[in-house]
Amino acid sequence: MSETGATPTTPVDIGSRAEPPFARLPEPATLFRQRAQRFAVLAQTHELAPYLHFMAGLTEAQHRTQESGLPAPQAPGEAERARAAQHAMPPIDCGNFAEDPALAATFDRLFDLARQIDMPGEAAEALGKVRRMESAERVAMANATFANRMDPTRIAEQVFLAAGMQIHATRLAATLDAKALTPVGQGVCPACGGPPVASLVVGWQGAHGSRFVSCALCATLWHEVRVKCVCCGATEGIRYQEIENGPGADLVRAECCPTCNRYVKIMLQHKDGALDPVADDVATLGLDLLLRDGDMRRGAVDPFLLGY
Ligand SMILES: [Zn+2]
Ligand SMILES: [Zn+2]
Repeated sequence: MSETGATPTTPVDIGSRAEPPFARLPEPATLFRQRAQRFAVLAQTHELAPYLHFMAGLTEAQHRTQESGLPAPQAPGEAERARAAQHAMPPIDCGNFAEDPALAATFDRLFDLARQIDMPGEAAEALGKVRRMESAERVAMANATFANRMDPTRIAEQVFLAAGMQIHATRLAATLDAKALTPVGQGVCPACGGPPVASLVVGWQGAHGSRFVSCALCATLWHEVRVKCVCCGATEGIRYQEIENGPGADLVRAECCPTCNRYVKIMLQHKDGALDPVADDVATLGLDLLLRDGDMRRGAVDPFLLGY
């Protein structure tokens, strides 16, 4: 009719056509509460129920920490952001965290609120230790956690410290301009330089079916094409492993890369919007246990899955 040219056109659903943005920033006001609700739902039918209930309490405390009048975090200024962009560096520098009074206040407030959570004696003891810890040691231990350097004798302390650091990093990331973020390296968060926790196939309007990687530290999501190793960028021989049963079993897979022998979970969030990269990572521990017996290593960092 009014079409020009002879090529027949395929109908395209404009509303769901994938034109993904490079990055989406976290929303701290809702992120942790939704995660807490997800942990609580997963706990209802899970063999790890006591731990998932504890995590629901801790993530709810992460949410409530922000409601207590925390000072604003020291966001990178315009000059720092420009310098970072020029050198393909993330604008948030975790090396500066120890000097930020907002982080110290965040830790103190979180550890106060966490005392109300029902937890085993060992965890309560660890909470006592992090409450008394000096600021520099807190930050050093939390940084070690996100660098995947775990101390098997201090895992519970690392869980509390990582939870505090996540609040701070997420609040900082929320101050950035998503459109100004650019890739800084394979498998590295473009906002804070943190590691991936998992990846999500999203159901967002305008980006339906696109895959985003979630930062373990600041919860920024960055775009990554599918069937590609999040860690090393290889596309050859990628295979998917899933478990037979359990909550979310059919919606969470391990994307396994034979080039670097690592895997990161991919969650089909476009099929279930409740899937959360952190909570569902913990709840699909069975997948990690299955892969642990082979030659695949976890390429993701999740402080709440320490010592699995
Ligand atoms: Zn990040
Ligand atoms: Zn790889």
